[in-house]
Amino acid sequence: MENMLQGALSHLDEAAQYTDVHPEVLEKLRYPKEVLTARLLIRMDNGSRRSFLAWRCRYDDTRGPTKGGIRFHPESSMDEVVTLAFWMTFKCAVAGLPFGGAKGAIQVDPRQLSKAELERLSRAYVHAFAQLIGPERDIPAPDVYTNAMIMGWMADEYSSLVGYPCPGVITGKPIALGGSLGREDATARGGFYVLQHLAQELGLNGERRAVVQGFGNAGYFIAQMLHEDGWKILGISDSNGAIYCPAGLDPIAVYECKRKTGRVSDYAAGFGNVQVLDNDQLLALECDLLVPSALEDQIHEGNVDTINARVILELANGPVTAGADKLLDARGITVLPDILANAGGVTVSYFEWVQNRQGYYWSAEEVQQRLKPLMEQEAMHVWSIAQRKAISMRTAAYVHGLQRLSAAIEAHGTQSYFCS
Ligand code: NAD
Repeated sequence: MENMLQGALSHLDEAAQYTDVHPEVLEKLRYPKEVLTARLLIRMDNGSRRSFLAWRCRYDDTRGPTKGGIRFHPESSMDEVVTLAFWMTFKCAVAGLPFGGAKGAIQVDPRQLSKAELERLSRAYVHAFAQLIGPERDIPAPDVYTNAMIMGWMADEYSSLVGYPCPGVITGKPIALGGSLGREDATARGGFYVLQHLAQELGLNGERRAVVQGFGNAGYFIAQMLHEDGWKILGISDSNGAIYCPAGLDPIAVYECKRKTGRVSDYAAGFGNVQVLDNDQLLALECDLLVPSALEDQIHEGNVDTINARVILELANGPVTAGADKLLDARGITVLPDILANAGGVTVSYFEWVQNRQGYYWSAEEVQQRLKPLMEQEAMHVWSIAQRKAISMRTAAYVHGLQRLSAAIEAHGTQSYFCS
């Protein structure tokens, strides 16, 4: 398995070959600004105490306060958190948001905890990292296995620590607690806007068959949007398995099944033409669009040869390893990279933060009206860099982000300024 951060930094090195940046910029972007590790000790329902490993990384704050989600996952690690924070730094730059990048995680399987234990753990995270986060410093958000209610607990905990309501410390909150309309489906919606805007360039106008890996926040909403737009959803998966139907699946009906039984694969029981597959079989389905919406490293050198999609829309962060990315590019498969494709989530998080600071709230239509042109503009910008320099969309997105980051870093002066 590739070291995640090394893989991520290889994209930075590659992008640097296509744009004129000072070596000091690369030196700054190669290392995180700060990473804090903590052990969170909480009281379990049975009276015992248990501790959990947790991290927060603020990777780079040159362009503004740092921004990035908090993940609850049994396999989270410091390498993963730092890599995700690096990606957030570039994602915010690609989207042109006035933020740097951050990320956090607790190494825990939240499905093994009661609701009360989950609340105590979420509040303990804020206690441990209270010095690091803040509305002007570092603003967390939801990620894998965290949701609006958890963000609400965290905002509440932070507010009681500082002594006044402070909704701007966290985004992705419930609407009643200062969340933004349109945040829930923003990640998928942003990706959908990118896809629609580039459809002609990508040749996605004829038969449109899609496969969606992961059926949580990102996966469910993109499946629903594609379905509504007339796409045939051939396959859907979650962590327990996958389903495939050549005639197309109705994401709302599959969601209803997952809500009841906890697994998308149970949907096959009611329908003779729906087959159960494993996740590798799902990724190998022939389709026009594959949407990885689960976790990182899903398409790697061991399974990349089986990929049979024309376009890949990365709603997950880092679903394609750096090694597999090169092989996909060589085969002419276009990857719409995570730092562009899933930037809708952080963009509406930015809108939420702006609304919290203004104390003035927008309608869902206003949110979408601001999100759409932003995603379209950045998508076209990345597309034209890719065309002009004859490079992949991923390298072009890194070039675009790097140009914005280097403008900010170089504005403080580099060696050439001080020693000229
Ligand atoms: P989520 O917790 O809502 O859903 C995750 C889904 O992935 C679940 O359906 C789970 O069953 C499934 N899954 C887990 N392991 C799997 C596996 N091995 N194979 C297939 N499915 C698997 O999480 P989410 O918020 O939808 O996030 C998914 C991805 O999107 C992550 O990479 C996250 O970093 C990224 N992302 C999310 C947002 C957001 O706003 N939620 C924003 C940007 C990026």
